[in-house]
Amino acid sequence: MIIASTARDLAVATEQSRRQGQRIALVPTMGALHRGHTSLFDIAKKEDAFVVASIFVNPRQFGDASDFNAYPITLEADLDLCRHHGVDVVYSPTASTMYPTGYATTVHVEGLTDIYEGQSRPGHFDGVTTVVTKLFNACRPDRAVFGQKDFQQTAVIRRLIIDLDLPIELIVAPTARAEDGLALSSRNIRLDTQARELATNLWRSLSLAQKQFQAGERNVEIIRGTIERICTQPGIILDYVAIVDRQTLESKTHCDDQTAILIAATIGGVRLIDNVLLNSQ
Ligand code: AMP
Repeated sequence: MIIASTARDLAVATEQSRRQGQRIALVPTMGALHRGHTSLFDIAKKEDAFVVASIFVNPRQFGDASDFNAYPITLEADLDLCRHHGVDVVYSPTASTMYPTGYATTVHVEGLTDIYEGQSRPGHFDGVTTVVTKLFNACRPDRAVFGQKDFQQTAVIRRLIIDLDLPIELIVAPTARAEDGLALSSRNIRLDTQARELATNLWRSLSLAQKQFQAGERNVEIIRGTIERICTQPGIILDYVAIVDRQTLESKTHCDDQTAILIAATIGGVRLIDNVLLNSQ
């Protein structure tokens, strides 16, 4: 496994495998890797692609300095996981390599980035789209694998790929969950026992909404009520429950098979997000 620390080293490694006719798959991460990330590596590895994982805690996507400073860093364990899951190159630059003195460019996707996560975390998506564009340019992947866990992010990246005519196939991987349903996240280790327990309500409410939909309920307010009833309790600061179209993220007036429900809450001082794609099967 090659460890690249500059965009140039990454470009050299991927160029070599491209010349040998391999397809290149990129999995961007911020490290502190868990089963959610490794499931993305496994999907990326399919059809024998040359897999690049980036590990970079991107300062530009954190509005909140305390969240950035508290973000876990476990590089050695991350590298072991990458090796075990067939990653060919890990790209792990420093912040000053990614954004050297004088750096002045931001990539901004309009509209989709103003709502939900974008509204609660101003500037977050500009940080994401800027770093992802830089990663795309250095790596020139044929495919990029992102997790459904960050559903709005996948919609923003899809827009970015279309608008900038990037020849990249976006693959969205299902959310890996703990046994009790909590979506795996690098931030979960910051939950204390009580907060960890409370956090299970997010997925519990979303799966109940899914069951209600499968039982024939189409009314947005009834489904929202189900979620809010479960998640309105001491210790859970609910930020939003958004019932939206999967592609445009516009609010739905009634639920159908194109509906996604997005939820965000702060529990025990940790901001958590999750979502479900409604399907009638
Ligand atoms: P992060 O390191 O949190 O920035 O995540 C890197 C990538 O892993 C993103 O595409 C996330 O959506 C994805 N990811 C994070 N958690 C999960 C999970 N529980 N299941 C699947 N993908 C995930």
